[in-house]
Amino acid sequence: MLTPQEIEQSYAIISKYYNQHLKENDVRLPRLRNGNQYTKDAIVLICLFQGYPKTRVWTKEELTQIIRELIDPNVNDVQQARHLGHQKGWYILSGTRKDNEAIDAGLKAGDYWLKTLEEPYPGYNASRRTVTEDFDELKAAYEYRCACCGSKEGEKNFRNPSKITRLQMGHMDPSKELSPGNIIPQCDECNRADRDWWVFDANGRVVGIGSETVIDRCSDEIKRRIYERLKKQYEKN
Ligand SMILES: [Zn+2]
Repeated sequence: MLTPQEIEQSYAIISKYYNQHLKENDVRLPRLRNGNQYTKDAIVLICLFQGYPKTRVWTKEELTQIIRELIDPNVNDVQQARHLGHQKGWYILSGTRKDNEAIDAGLKAGDYWLKTLEEPYPGYNASRRTVTEDFDELKAAYEYRCACCGSKEGEKNFRNPSKITRLQMGHMDPSKELSPGNIIPQCDECNRADRDWWVFDANGRVVGIGSETVIDRCSDEIKRRIYERLKKQYEKN
């Protein structure tokens, strides 16, 4: 089991290699924490890193077990090692991917091995990533659930059980472009025209008003209070 101190130290060393060798190739360094919880990407990378440079082969089951103990006891199928290699550029060989190097190293399906922190994955080219790959990665980070209602892709929609959930790219802030940093996965029941009234945070919570037209739906009392508030603010300036 990894102690908090081992996690911090490992992450610091990985970051150092990253800055020296990988950043210039646009490899993606996962954040250590999201809020006060470790991210799965960081913990998987830290596991694979143990013993560096003499790293060992990890199985998907081992990685899943650690994620369960450290982050989420209900997690089932940890895909992070595959994504870290394939989509984020870390030199992680995968037995499932069956590239020659993985076969030569004797990896079996579900095995992962971090080969080096001094080179990106061979042939990795961040600019070749497609919008679809990016969105797949984002959906994985949300466990393939709608950020707002939690409906899971391919399963019955919570808001409309007659429908199967399909996730779409939803704006966090509808006044800004639909580009990385402003996207949450939303089911089509949540990603409707009226959602443009609101600004969402990354957790799908409403944190602001996206369109002044929503004020038309407020009670007279609230409209009056908004009016007084804005009058005070703009008369001051
Ligand atoms: Zn939804």
